[in-house]
Amino acid sequence: MMNELPSVLIDRFQRRVDYVRLSVTDRCDFRCVYCMAEDMTFVPKQHILTLEEIYEVARAFVELGVGKIRLTGGEPLVRNNILSLVKPLGQLPGLDQLVLTSNGSQLHRLAAPLREAGVKRINISLDSLQPRRFRQLTRHGNLDQVIAGIDAAIAARFERIRLNAVILKGRNEDEVLDLVDFALQRGIDIAFIEEMPLGLIDEHDRALSFCSSEELRAIIAQKYTLETLGDPSGQAGPARYFRTGAGPTRIGFISPHSHNFCHLCNRVRVTAEGRLLLCLGNEHSVDLRAVLRAPDYTPQKLKHCIVGAMASKPERHHFNLQDTPDIVRFMNATGG
Ligand code: SAM
Ligand code: SF4
Repeated sequence: MMNELPSVLIDRFQRRVDYVRLSVTDRCDFRCVYCMAEDMTFVPKQHILTLEEIYEVARAFVELGVGKIRLTGGEPLVRNNILSLVKPLGQLPGLDQLVLTSNGSQLHRLAAPLREAGVKRINISLDSLQPRRFRQLTRHGNLDQVIAGIDAAIAARFERIRLNAVILKGRNEDEVLDLVDFALQRGIDIAFIEEMPLGLIDEHDRALSFCSSEELRAIIAQKYTLETLGDPSGQAGPARYFRTGAGPTRIGFISPHSHNFCHLCNRVRVTAEGRLLLCLGNEHSVDLRAVLRAPDYTPQKLKHCIVGAMASKPERHHFNLQDTPDIVRFMNATGG
Protein backbone atom coordinates (compact mmCIF):
# COMPACT_ATOMS: atom_id res chain seq x y z
CA MET A 1 0.00 0.00 0.00
CA MET A 2 1.25 3.45 -0.89
CA ASN A 3 1.37 6.22 1.73
CA GLU A 4 -1.24 8.93 1.61
CA LEU A 5 -0.54 11.85 -0.65
CA PRO A 6 0.01 15.32 0.81
CA SER A 7 -2.14 18.25 -0.36
CA VAL A 8 0.92 20.48 -0.91
CA LEU A 9 4.53 19.94 -2.01
CA ILE A 10 7.22 20.88 0.52
CA ASP A 11 10.95 20.24 0.04
CA ARG A 12 13.69 19.45 2.59
CA PHE A 13 14.36 23.13 3.16
CA GLN A 14 10.71 23.84 3.98
CA ARG A 15 10.11 25.62 0.67
CA ARG A 16 6.61 25.16 -0.69
CA VAL A 17 6.64 24.24 -4.39
CA ASP A 18 3.52 25.71 -5.97
CA TYR A 19 4.82 26.71 -9.42
CA VAL A 20 5.73 24.41 -12.34
CA ARG A 21 7.28 25.35 -15.66
CA LEU A 22 6.34 22.82 -18.32
CA SER A 23 8.37 22.69 -21.48
CA VAL A 24 6.07 21.53 -24.27
CA THR A 25 8.82 21.21 -26.89
CA ASP A 26 12.60 21.65 -27.14
CA ARG A 27 12.20 22.89 -30.73
CA CYS A 28 12.16 26.52 -31.75
CA ASP A 29 11.90 28.65 -34.87
CA PHE A 30 14.70 30.91 -33.54
CA ARG A 31 18.29 30.12 -32.51
CA CYS A 32 19.08 32.92 -30.03
CA VAL A 33 22.84 33.17 -29.66
CA TYR A 34 22.84 32.79 -25.85
CA CYS A 35 20.31 29.95 -25.84
CA MET A 36 21.18 27.58 -28.67
CA ALA A 37 24.01 26.63 -30.95
CA GLU A 38 23.45 27.31 -34.66
CA ASP A 39 23.27 23.61 -35.36
CA MET A 40 21.13 21.88 -32.76
CA THR A 41 20.13 18.26 -32.35
CA PHE A 42 16.63 17.99 -30.99
CA VAL A 43 15.11 15.16 -29.02
CA PRO A 44 13.47 12.51 -31.26
CA LYS A 45 9.71 13.05 -31.41
CA GLN A 46 8.82 9.74 -29.76
CA HIS A 47 10.77 10.80 -26.66
CA ILE A 48 8.77 13.99 -26.26
CA LEU A 49 5.71 13.82 -24.03
CA THR A 50 2.44 13.81 -25.93
CA LEU A 51 -0.01 16.63 -25.21
CA GLU A 52 -2.13 14.12 -23.25
CA GLU A 53 0.89 13.13 -21.15
CA ILE A 54 1.70 16.78 -20.48
CA TYR A 55 -1.88 17.28 -19.33
CA GLU A 56 -1.55 14.29 -16.96
CA VAL A 57 1.59 15.82 -15.46
CA ALA A 58 -0.11 19.21 -15.06
CA ARG A 59 -3.14 17.63 -13.40
CA ALA A 60 -0.97 15.66 -10.98
CA PHE A 61 0.88 18.81 -9.90
CA VAL A 62 -2.33 20.79 -9.49
CA GLU A 63 -3.80 18.01 -7.35
CA LEU A 64 -0.67 18.36 -5.22
CA GLY A 65 -1.38 22.02 -4.56
CA VAL A 66 0.41 23.69 -7.49
CA GLY A 67 -1.52 26.84 -8.45
CA LYS A 68 0.64 28.21 -11.25
CA ILE A 69 1.81 26.58 -14.47
CA ARG A 70 3.95 28.23 -17.11
CA LEU A 71 4.09 26.70 -20.59
CA THR A 72 7.47 27.23 -22.16
CA GLY A 73 10.06 25.53 -24.34
CA GLY A 74 11.81 25.82 -26.84
CA GLU A 75 9.07 27.84 -28.38
CA PRO A 76 5.77 26.54 -26.97
CA LEU A 77 3.75 27.98 -29.84
CA VAL A 78 5.52 25.92 -32.51
CA ARG A 79 4.17 22.73 -30.92
CA ASN A 80 1.43 21.34 -33.19
CA ASN A 81 -2.05 21.67 -31.78
CA ILE A 82 -0.88 23.54 -28.71
CA LEU A 83 -4.40 24.91 -28.16
CA SER A 84 -5.68 21.38 -27.57
CA LEU A 85 -3.47 21.34 -24.45
CA VAL A 86 -4.11 24.94 -23.41
CA LYS A 87 -7.91 24.66 -23.54
CA PRO A 88 -8.27 21.84 -20.98
CA LEU A 89 -5.54 23.38 -18.82
CA GLY A 90 -7.54 26.62 -18.79
CA GLN A 91 -10.44 24.62 -17.29
CA LEU A 92 -8.40 22.64 -14.74
CA PRO A 93 -9.94 23.18 -11.27
CA GLY A 94 -7.36 24.51 -8.79
CA LEU A 95 -5.06 26.01 -11.41
CA ASP A 96 -5.21 29.76 -10.69
CA GLN A 97 -2.52 30.97 -13.04
CA LEU A 98 -1.94 29.52 -16.48
CA VAL A 99 0.85 31.58 -18.03
CA LEU A 100 3.14 31.30 -21.03
CA THR A 101 6.58 32.39 -22.24
CA SER A 102 7.00 32.91 -25.98
CA ASN A 103 9.36 34.44 -28.49
CA GLY A 104 6.32 36.17 -30.01
CA SER A 105 6.71 34.79 -33.53
CA GLN A 106 3.28 33.08 -33.56
CA LEU A 107 1.37 35.49 -31.38
CA HIS A 108 -0.10 37.47 -34.24
CA ARG A 109 -2.33 34.43 -34.85
CA LEU A 110 -2.44 32.80 -31.41
CA ALA A 111 -2.69 35.63 -28.86
CA ALA A 112 -6.50 35.89 -28.98
CA PRO A 113 -7.24 32.12 -28.84
CA LEU A 114 -4.71 31.65 -26.02
CA ARG A 115 -6.36 34.39 -23.99
CA GLU A 116 -9.77 32.90 -24.67
CA ALA A 117 -8.53 29.47 -23.58
CA GLY A 118 -7.57 30.88 -20.17
CA VAL A 119 -3.93 31.99 -20.38
CA LYS A 120 -3.74 34.91 -17.96
CA ARG A 121 -0.29 36.36 -18.40
CA ILE A 122 2.35 36.17 -21.05
CA ASN A 123 6.09 36.84 -21.21
CA ILE A 124 7.49 37.72 -24.61
CA SER A 125 11.21 37.79 -25.34
CA LEU A 126 12.56 40.87 -27.10
CA ASP A 127 16.27 41.69 -27.18
CA SER A 128 16.48 44.31 -29.91
CA LEU A 129 14.35 46.85 -31.77
CA GLN A 130 16.68 46.97 -34.74
CA PRO A 131 15.55 44.53 -37.48
CA ARG A 132 19.03 43.47 -38.62
CA ARG A 133 20.37 43.09 -35.15
CA PHE A 134 17.24 41.23 -34.06
CA ARG A 135 17.87 38.80 -36.88
CA GLN A 136 21.51 38.39 -35.83
CA LEU A 137 20.68 37.74 -32.17
CA THR A 138 17.88 35.27 -32.92
CA ARG A 139 19.55 33.99 -36.13
CA HIS A 140 16.09 33.53 -37.73
CA GLY A 141 13.66 35.99 -36.17
CA ASN A 142 11.65 38.65 -37.94
CA LEU A 143 11.25 41.75 -35.77
CA ASP A 144 8.07 43.04 -37.47
CA GLN A 145 6.35 39.74 -36.89
CA VAL A 146 7.29 39.74 -33.20
CA ILE A 147 6.12 43.33 -32.73
CA ALA A 148 2.84 42.41 -34.43
CA GLY A 149 2.63 39.53 -31.93
CA ILE A 150 3.23 41.86 -28.98
CA ASP A 151 0.50 44.18 -30.23
CA ALA A 152 -1.87 41.23 -30.72
CA ALA A 153 -1.20 40.23 -27.11
CA ILE A 154 -1.97 43.77 -25.93
CA ALA A 155 -5.21 43.72 -27.95
CA ALA A 156 -6.13 40.32 -26.44
CA ARG A 157 -6.00 41.91 -22.95
CA PHE A 158 -3.85 39.52 -21.00
CA GLU A 159 -3.78 40.40 -17.29
CA ARG A 160 -0.11 41.16 -17.61
CA ILE A 161 2.40 41.20 -20.43
CA ARG A 162 6.11 41.27 -19.70
CA LEU A 163 8.93 41.60 -22.17
CA ASN A 164 12.04 39.56 -21.34
CA ALA A 165 15.36 40.94 -22.53
CA VAL A 166 18.80 39.39 -22.28
CA ILE A 167 21.44 42.08 -22.73
CA LEU A 168 24.87 41.13 -24.04
CA LYS A 169 27.88 43.41 -23.87
CA GLY A 170 28.84 44.78 -27.26
CA ARG A 171 25.70 43.41 -28.94
CA ASN A 172 22.58 45.13 -27.62
CA GLU A 173 23.78 46.99 -24.53
CA ASP A 174 23.09 50.28 -26.33
CA GLU A 175 19.38 49.40 -26.63
CA VAL A 176 18.51 49.19 -22.94
CA LEU A 177 16.80 52.59 -22.88
CA ASP A 178 15.03 52.00 -26.20
CA LEU A 179 13.62 48.73 -24.87
CA VAL A 180 12.45 50.47 -21.67
CA ASP A 181 10.82 53.22 -23.74
CA PHE A 182 9.09 50.63 -25.93
CA ALA A 183 7.61 48.99 -22.80
CA LEU A 184 6.62 52.36 -21.32
CA GLN A 185 4.88 53.44 -24.54
CA ARG A 186 2.81 50.26 -24.55
CA GLY A 187 2.17 50.19 -20.79
CA ILE A 188 3.63 46.70 -20.39
CA ASP A 189 6.34 45.34 -18.06
CA ILE A 190 9.92 44.57 -18.98
CA ALA A 191 12.47 42.35 -17.23
CA PHE A 192 16.18 42.21 -17.89
CA ILE A 193 17.56 38.70 -17.34
CA GLU A 194 21.23 38.11 -16.63
CA GLU A 195 22.66 35.54 -18.97
CA MET A 196 23.06 32.11 -17.40
CA PRO A 197 25.72 29.54 -18.34
CA LEU A 198 23.44 26.81 -19.63
CA GLY A 199 24.96 24.77 -22.43
CA LEU A 200 28.32 25.30 -24.10
CA ILE A 201 28.10 27.37 -27.27
CA ASP A 202 31.39 27.48 -29.17
CA GLU A 203 30.78 30.66 -31.08
CA HIS A 204 29.63 32.61 -28.00
CA ASP A 205 31.82 33.54 -24.99
CA ARG A 206 29.52 34.18 -22.05
CA ALA A 207 32.24 35.64 -19.81
CA LEU A 208 32.85 38.42 -22.36
CA SER A 209 29.21 39.18 -23.08
CA PHE A 210 27.92 39.20 -19.51
CA CYS A 211 26.12 42.37 -18.39
CA SER A 212 25.08 42.56 -14.75
CA SER A 213 21.73 43.89 -13.59
CA GLU A 214 23.58 46.65 -11.71
CA GLU A 215 25.13 47.90 -14.96
CA LEU A 216 21.71 47.92 -16.63
CA ARG A 217 20.10 49.73 -13.74
CA ALA A 218 22.76 52.41 -13.93
CA ILE A 219 22.01 52.90 -17.65
CA ILE A 220 18.26 53.24 -16.99
CA ALA A 221 18.88 55.59 -14.06
CA GLN A 222 20.53 58.04 -16.50
CA LYS A 223 17.04 58.78 -17.86
CA TYR A 224 14.52 57.59 -15.25
CA THR A 225 14.21 57.64 -11.49
CA LEU A 226 13.64 54.08 -10.41
CA GLU A 227 11.38 53.56 -7.38
CA THR A 228 11.79 50.12 -5.87
CA LEU A 229 8.74 47.91 -5.44
CA GLY A 230 10.50 45.76 -2.83
CA ASP A 231 12.66 42.69 -2.81
CA PRO A 232 11.80 39.50 -4.66
CA SER A 233 9.27 37.31 -2.93
CA GLY A 234 8.11 33.74 -3.46
CA GLN A 235 4.95 35.09 -5.11
CA ALA A 236 6.47 37.68 -7.43
CA GLY A 237 9.32 35.34 -8.40
CA PRO A 238 12.98 36.23 -8.62
CA ALA A 239 12.62 39.63 -10.34
CA ARG A 240 13.34 42.81 -8.40
CA TYR A 241 10.86 45.35 -9.75
CA PHE A 242 10.96 49.12 -10.07
CA ARG A 243 8.61 51.77 -11.41
CA THR A 244 9.56 54.93 -13.19
CA GLY A 245 6.50 56.89 -12.09
CA ALA A 246 5.39 57.12 -15.74
CA GLY A 247 2.45 54.72 -16.23
CA PRO A 248 1.88 51.14 -15.11
CA THR A 249 5.11 49.67 -16.51
CA ARG A 250 7.30 47.79 -14.05
CA ILE A 251 10.97 47.31 -14.82
CA GLY A 252 12.40 44.08 -13.41
CA PHE A 253 15.85 42.62 -13.01
CA ILE A 254 16.43 38.89 -12.74
CA SER A 255 19.92 38.40 -11.41
CA PRO A 256 20.86 34.79 -10.79
CA HIS A 257 24.53 35.82 -10.53
CA SER A 258 24.48 39.03 -8.57
CA HIS A 259 21.51 38.22 -6.31
CA ASN A 260 20.98 34.64 -5.31
CA PHE A 261 17.30 33.94 -4.78
CA CYS A 262 17.41 30.18 -4.22
CA HIS A 263 16.06 30.46 -0.65
CA LEU A 264 12.77 31.74 -2.15
CA CYS A 265 12.58 29.09 -4.84
CA ASN A 266 9.01 27.79 -5.18
CA ARG A 267 9.34 26.17 -8.61
CA VAL A 268 10.33 23.05 -10.48
CA ARG A 269 10.56 22.37 -14.21
CA VAL A 270 9.50 19.52 -16.44
CA THR A 271 11.42 19.11 -19.69
CA ALA A 272 9.74 18.21 -22.97
CA GLU A 273 10.91 14.61 -22.43
CA GLY A 274 9.23 14.47 -19.04
CA ARG A 275 12.30 14.92 -16.86
CA LEU A 276 11.33 16.66 -13.63
CA LEU A 277 14.18 19.08 -12.89
CA LEU A 278 14.38 20.20 -9.31
CA CYS A 279 16.74 23.16 -9.93
CA LEU A 280 17.68 25.21 -12.99
CA GLY A 281 21.37 25.08 -12.05
CA ASN A 282 21.71 21.42 -11.03
CA GLU A 283 21.18 18.09 -12.72
CA HIS A 284 18.96 16.52 -10.02
CA SER A 285 16.02 15.05 -11.89
CA VAL A 286 13.37 12.35 -11.93
CA ASP A 287 12.01 10.61 -15.03
CA LEU A 288 8.23 11.16 -15.12
CA ARG A 289 7.95 9.74 -18.64
CA ALA A 290 8.97 6.29 -17.38
CA VAL A 291 6.09 6.44 -14.89
CA LEU A 292 3.63 7.74 -17.50
CA ARG A 293 4.55 5.04 -20.03
CA ALA A 294 4.73 2.10 -17.59
CA PRO A 295 2.07 -0.54 -18.32
CA ASP A 296 0.72 -0.20 -14.75
CA TYR A 297 0.52 3.62 -14.88
CA THR A 298 -1.95 5.32 -12.57
CA PRO A 299 -2.25 9.03 -11.71
CA GLN A 300 -1.59 8.03 -8.06
CA LYS A 301 1.79 6.57 -9.02
CA LEU A 302 2.72 9.75 -10.86
CA LYS A 303 1.82 11.85 -7.83
CA HIS A 304 3.85 9.61 -5.50
CA CYS A 305 6.82 9.97 -7.82
CA ILE A 306 6.50 13.77 -7.74
CA VAL A 307 6.18 13.85 -3.95
CA GLY A 308 9.25 11.62 -3.61
CA ALA A 309 11.24 13.88 -5.94
CA MET A 310 10.91 16.82 -3.55
CA ALA A 311 13.54 15.17 -1.33
CA SER A 312 16.17 15.78 -4.01
CA LYS A 313 15.51 19.49 -4.62
CA PRO A 314 18.93 21.07 -3.96
CA GLU A 315 19.40 24.05 -1.68
CA ARG A 316 20.89 26.34 -4.33
CA HIS A 317 22.59 26.70 -7.70
CA HIS A 318 26.26 27.59 -8.26
CA PHE A 319 26.62 29.47 -11.52
CA ASN A 320 30.10 30.48 -12.60
CA LEU A 321 30.83 32.23 -15.88
CA GLN A 322 34.57 31.60 -15.96
CA ASP A 323 34.57 27.80 -15.88
CA THR A 324 33.19 25.31 -18.33
CA PRO A 325 29.52 25.06 -17.41
CA ASP A 326 28.54 22.22 -15.10
CA ILE A 327 25.19 22.23 -16.81
CA VAL A 328 25.40 20.88 -20.29
CA ARG A 329 21.69 21.26 -20.94
CA PHE A 330 20.73 24.20 -23.13
CA MET A 331 18.03 26.57 -21.95
CA ASN A 332 15.63 25.29 -24.62
CA ALA A 333 16.02 21.78 -23.23
CA THR A 334 15.51 23.00 -19.68
CA GLY A 335 12.35 24.95 -20.26
CA GLY A 336 13.35 28.56 -19.62
N1 SAM B 1 11.12 30.51 -26.69
C1 SAM B 1 10.52 31.22 -25.61
C2 SAM B 1 11.16 32.57 -25.43
O1 SAM B 1 12.22 32.82 -26.02
O2 SAM B 1 10.60 33.39 -24.70
C3 SAM B 1 10.49 30.48 -24.32
C4 SAM B 1 11.71 29.70 -23.93
S1 SAM B 1 13.16 30.68 -23.63
C5 SAM B 1 14.34 29.42 -23.23
C6 SAM B 1 12.73 31.50 -22.14
C7 SAM B 1 13.59 32.66 -21.75
O3 SAM B 1 14.89 32.21 -21.45
C8 SAM B 1 13.73 33.73 -22.81
O4 SAM B 1 13.31 34.97 -22.30
C9 SAM B 1 15.20 33.74 -23.12
O5 SAM B 1 15.65 35.02 -23.42
C10 SAM B 1 15.80 33.20 -21.86
N2 SAM B 1 17.11 32.56 -22.03
C11 SAM B 1 17.47 31.63 -22.92
N3 SAM B 1 18.76 31.25 -22.73
C12 SAM B 1 19.21 31.97 -21.67
C13 SAM B 1 20.46 32.04 -20.99
N4 SAM B 1 21.50 31.29 -21.31
N5 SAM B 1 20.55 32.92 -19.95
C14 SAM B 1 19.49 33.68 -19.59
N6 SAM B 1 18.30 33.66 -20.19
C15 SAM B 1 18.16 32.82 -21.23
FE1 SF4 C 1 14.10 29.82 -29.02
FE2 SF4 C 1 13.42 31.10 -26.79
FE3 SF4 C 1 15.80 29.86 -26.98
FE4 SF4 C 1 15.38 32.03 -28.40
S1 SF4 C 1 15.41 31.92 -26.17
S2 SF4 C 1 16.28 30.12 -29.17
S3 SF4 C 1 13.29 31.90 -28.88
S4 SF4 C 1 13.84 28.90 -26.99
